[in-house]
Amino acid sequence: MSGAHRTISGKIVIATHNPGKLREMSELLSIYGVEAVSAGELGLSEPDETGASFAANACIKSDAAARASGLPAFADDSGLVVDALGGAPGIHSARWAGPDKNFSRAMETIDSMLRDHGATTPALRSAHFVSALCVSWPDGHVEEFEARVDGTLVWPPRGEKGFGYDPMFLPDGHDRTFGEMSPDEKHGLPPRGQGLSHRARAFLNLAEACLVR
Ligand code: IMP
Repeated sequence: MSGAHRTISGKIVIATHNPGKLREMSELLSIYGVEAVSAGELGLSEPDETGASFAANACIKSDAAARASGLPAFADDSGLVVDALGGAPGIHSARWAGPDKNFSRAMETIDSMLRDHGATTPALRSAHFVSALCVSWPDGHVEEFEARVDGTLVWPPRGEKGFGYDPMFLPDGHDRTFGEMSPDEKHGLPPRGQGLSHRARAFLNLAEACLVR
């Protein structure tokens, strides 16, 4: 561990209003005895995600929450990057589901755009999820981590577990989509899981640098 990294302990604000991500993150942090409180519980408002990258958007959220709460704050920004669509939806992944957060429709949009591009074979339907994690302290110190998981987009979507684009994402080396995997399989850390998801991988990088068991 580099001396430049700062250890996270005690209580941390999770700067997300997404219940799926909040659940995953609270589970991961609890392993290290870190207590998570959500930005929602503290009544913090959500800043506009005006950054041009996953990391920039994660840091906008964690900086705002750390300043508003006086506690260390943790934020993630993530999304689905589809190669045949020039990286879309990327940082706009949440927005593609519309105000009613309709991911069935967002997945249909992606599938129909892939068909329009002639992307009908698995090799042409490659994609990856990216997770950027940012921890900000009230004094301005910042820690940033990023990781990805590669896979293929299947159609029709499969499975009722997970959230967002999980039912159409088949991670490389597996025969079930994220929508068909249990939480432990998708994002559990060893020994419970394999740290498969983008968020689990980014989290493992963060844990190595900033958390102690
Ligand atoms: P964010 O809240 O700006 O990070 O938006 C991320 C969006 O990307 C989510 O609303 C989902 O649509 C999608 N996404 C990110 N991570 C996952 C995942 O693990 N499974 C499925 N969809 C995801």
